[in-house]
Amino acid sequence: MTRNTPTREECARLDARDPLARFRSEFVLPEGTIYLDGNSLGALPAATPERVAALVEQEWGQHLVRSWNDAGWWEKPRDLGAKVAPLIGAAAHEVVVGDGTSANLFKVLVAALRLNPRRRVVVGESGNFPTDLYITQGVTELMGVSERRYDPRRQSLREALAPGDAAVVLLSHVDYHTGELRDMAEITRMAHESGALVVWDLCHSVGALPVHLSECGVDFAVGCTYKYLNGGPGAPAFTYAAERHHDTARQPLSGWHGHARPFDFAGEYQPAEGATRFLSGSQPLVADAALEASLDMWLRADLGEVRAKSLAMTELFIELTAAAGFGVVTPLPAARRGSQVSLSHPDGYPVMQALIERGVIGDFRAPDVLRFGFTPLYVGYVDVFDAAACLRDVVETGVWRAPRFSRRSQVT
Ligand SMILES: *Cc1c(COP(=O)(O)O)cnc(C)c1O
Repeated sequence: MTRNTPTREECARLDARDPLARFRSEFVLPEGTIYLDGNSLGALPAATPERVAALVEQEWGQHLVRSWNDAGWWEKPRDLGAKVAPLIGAAAHEVVVGDGTSANLFKVLVAALRLNPRRRVVVGESGNFPTDLYITQGVTELMGVSERRYDPRRQSLREALAPGDAAVVLLSHVDYHTGELRDMAEITRMAHESGALVVWDLCHSVGALPVHLSECGVDFAVGCTYKYLNGGPGAPAFTYAAERHHDTARQPLSGWHGHARPFDFAGEYQPAEGATRFLSGSQPLVADAALEASLDMWLRADLGEVRAKSLAMTELFIELTAAAGFGVVTPLPAARRGSQVSLSHPDGYPVMQALIERGVIGDFRAPDVLRFGFTPLYVGYVDVFDAAACLRDVVETGVWRAPRFSRRSQVT
């Protein structure tokens, strides 16, 4: 520990001054747990169970099929999109909520390739989240184009774009493994200059920091809502399409919810206006109700305050664990950090299991990374202090060597 590292008392004073502290009571959190995995599955907002129950008992149970009109079910993908929009710096009509991130990636990648038909290459990072890599593989096979993966540790994006053949660049705004934040404005500008469109995956940045899609001139973006946005396990994802592409973009899963006049029940597909054309079919309204309860809370949160506290917490955690023998995978400059700290340790898996048994929940990503997500609405500075102390203790005492901690579960 450095001399300036705060004490537990100083952390308590930071909590007392924290403008976001009032949100903590809006979450259900188990007693005795410090939850640092909100970057994987966000915590449960206290308002959610009642909202889900109201949908099930009233809207479904009592009003039945009339709820498509009376309870706004039909409009839900657009209404939820309008609530996500301010969190990602987009206009309301540029965002819809529906389907999952993987499916939405498929839709926007194909749409982007069709908008840039003379180019034949999708460029992306080799270390991107697996579903991004797999969907890209599926799309390139289907569309008969090729893929160029680059490793940013060995090659720059500029070099990957040098051949001048890139149709689309697909990147994650914050890397799921390292927690590195990319410069969206600069990368988007560079891609456009080379003649490519840009798709950003916001899974690890939405709700973690302010995102400025319109300002950065981004073409398309997707993101999930069950991580930092607390929408619930498997909650529906969002799709952003810049207004300038609304008339020309054609996505391949052209289902009836994306039709211009769905209740004409016409034989020919005709895409709807705006981001609505990125919808496909009926949506999980029960899951939508859970997401809406959370978004209504998020709309009261100041994203500038979220970012400031997130950076303070991640920095504190890095400081407090500095002497414990971990490698720090996450970049140290604040401008390159998301809301997560990744530490490497050769025995990362059993170390994390031992930590979880003591009530500090993070997760593990192969081969050797322990991930800790810091969610400013329900994690405080004393939590960070206690979690770091617990982690140091687990490593220093060697309790993680107990054989039970090395047994692998399916989900790590
Ligand atoms: C979590 C995550 C996903 C998840 O995709 P699903 O379709 O919701 O399973 C996709 N991309 C990134 C970068 C992620 O972090």
